Amino acid sequence: MHPALDAFLADRDRPTPYLVLDPAVVARRHADVVAAFPGAEVLYAVKACPHPAVLRTLVAAGAGFDAASPAEVDLCLAAGADPARIGLGNPVRGAAATAAAHRAGVRRFVTDSVEDLDELAAHAPGAAVLVRLLVDDSGSATPFFGKFGATPQVATDLLRACASRGLVAAGVTFHAGSQQTRPTTYAAGVAAALAVARDAGLQHPVLDVGGGLPVAYRADVPSFTEFAAAIGGVDGIDAAQLVLEPGRALVAEAGVLRTSVLRVSRRPGVDHRRWVYLDAGRYQGLAETENEAIGYPLRVPGRDGPCGPVVLAGPTCDGDDVLYRRTPYALPLSLRAGDHVDLLHAGAYTASYASVGFNGFGPLPVHIAPAHPS
Ligand SMILES: *Cc1c(COP(=O)(O)O)cnc(C)c1O
Repeated sequence: MHPALDAFLADRDRPTPYLVLDPAVVARRHADVVAAFPGAEVLYAVKACPHPAVLRTLVAAGAGFDAASPAEVDLCLAAGADPARIGLGNPVRGAAATAAAHRAGVRRFVTDSVEDLDELAAHAPGAAVLVRLLVDDSGSATPFFGKFGATPQVATDLLRACASRGLVAAGVTFHAGSQQTRPTTYAAGVAAALAVARDAGLQHPVLDVGGGLPVAYRADVPSFTEFAAAIGGVDGIDAAQLVLEPGRALVAEAGVLRTSVLRVSRRPGVDHRRWVYLDAGRYQGLAETENEAIGYPLRVPGRDGPCGPVVLAGPTCDGDDVLYRRTPYALPLSLRAGDHVDLLHAGAYTASYASVGFNGFGPLPVHIAPAHPS
């Protein structure tokens, strides 16, 4: 199906675990999004996979970028991105980061509070502002539980308050949660966002529908075209400039995460299922198995025959480092330690979560307090 990935994976001697990416798949997925949403601007959400080869591929394809931090802005610039095509989509930055992004040439910022609007006025003068609206994100595998977003009234007030602060009220954005499988959720978000733009007096608002386009992991999902039809059917959409911020949908299918089986344990008295311990788990890139939110398709090269139920676990001594306990997975009864298990569609939110700088926020510094003379 993906010849470049399959050819790479044919070498069975390479040490595991690792992620292999095919940028050509990223380019193809980007082209599919562009074809489904003609005229829309696509900003790739960098955190899904910030690898320079992915960013360069998307620069060449004409994409822009949704960044959350100065470090992500720098990655985009290093890949050749035009700062005019970078949006700072994180409504919580801090003054120093806001100023750094502005110095780097970023002129579009997302906000969701008056506190942040004041920060933008002080550190990103003249910037174009999108207000993030709190929307229903049911249907998402990883909902936000209200972490970001303003109510319609507050969002309208924020847009109206831009001009007096030297900022440009550009439009409205929302994020309906990642792996969002319901086109109707987008349609509802779009309708709510257009109403806010109208109340704020914007004639031709930017309408940024965020990320969330889903990937067919182990079950089918609606096509890009179905999402486009739902969004395009909302009254008033024609006056808006549509922006999308896909992350997962562009990179997931471009990656395979190859692991090795460390142990297959039968656990009489504990579980009737075999426990399969892999050499990658929650802390080696499989963060999205938390709550079993994302269920990757699995492949066991070189093994076939009858399958039986398994629990899949990671290698660390942390009790949370169990990938799938409730989600039914079955693997060949012939599975042995040393076999490879490939996690498919694993290009999104794996390498980035396994880094010590997810979303461009660095690792926790550790200081040793000198002995205190007492
Ligand atoms: C993470 C994020 C995205 C990308 O979400 P996907 O579900 O990966 O498409 C887009 N926009 C914002 C603001 C985000 O935080």
